[in-house]
Amino acid sequence: MQASSDTPLVELRNVSLSYGSGRERIPALEDVTLSIGKGEFVAVVGPSGCGKSTLMKLVTGLMPPTAGEVRVHGQTVKGPIRGVGMAFQAPTLMPWRTTRDNILLPLEVVEPHKRRFRKNKAEYVERVEKLLASVGLGGFGDKFPWQLSGGMQQRSSLCRALVHEPEILMLDEPFGALDAFTREELWGVMQALWLERRFTAVLVTHDLREAVYLADTVYVMSRRPGRIVKLRNVDLPRPRRLETTFEPRFVEIVHELRERIHLEHA
Ligand code: ADP
Repeated sequence: MQASSDTPLVELRNVSLSYGSGRERIPALEDVTLSIGKGEFVAVVGPSGCGKSTLMKLVTGLMPPTAGEVRVHGQTVKGPIRGVGMAFQAPTLMPWRTTRDNILLPLEVVEPHKRRFRKNKAEYVERVEKLLASVGLGGFGDKFPWQLSGGMQQRSSLCRALVHEPEILMLDEPFGALDAFTREELWGVMQALWLERRFTAVLVTHDLREAVYLADTVYVMSRRPGRIVKLRNVDLPRPRRLETTFEPRFVEIVHELRERIHLEHA
């Protein structure tokens, strides 16, 4: 069955998830309903342990919900979905592979690239070089990860997450371990990649400025068990720049989100 064009790409309908069972049962998410349009950039913010990573695992089908339904392209998710790229707080690059070979890795393991890999390697290498150039790492393909700074490693892991041209990019605090200057630089890199490729992005972050800089829609989650307590559309024009973060409209949205999160800590 083909989903119609106005079907959201991702839908969570009254989704709950608990870890463990009986006395050990930990309710992590409760009655979460949300929908993400194709090409939308969504950020999820909330207190530590509120279920943000759990939400990522549900969307990608790595875990089934305890109750409710997760749909992608209008179809109920029953296992890990295809067409996903992921980037995490730790860059997780393999130290024995060059940057180029690290980025090529998904093409070696994900179909249909896997079966074409040997024959089309030159074309894939060219794709990696283009990606590296687009994140400001042109010419660094031969370097090993340990020869790169933290920010450069994280740029490389964004390339690796995108090299197979996934429809959905899941970002779990990808800039969380970087210093403030590098982090802000990478917001610009991330935005440029998204504006060029228009994948659907789901960003989990603690950083409200990061959420507002990058997202079309910010969801605020409650303390555990995580529920959606606020949806905020960010209608600031793009491309957003660092200067945008000092503008009253931007600051106002950040304050509004911060106030809502503070209620969770009260
Ligand atoms: P966040 O990403 O917002 O920090 P998580 O989704 O990782 O939160 O976790 C939500 C809650 O579920 C946390 O309180 C965590 O301790 C609990 N939790 C996460 N994974 C497991 C697990 N495998 N078994 C038991 N509890 C878990």
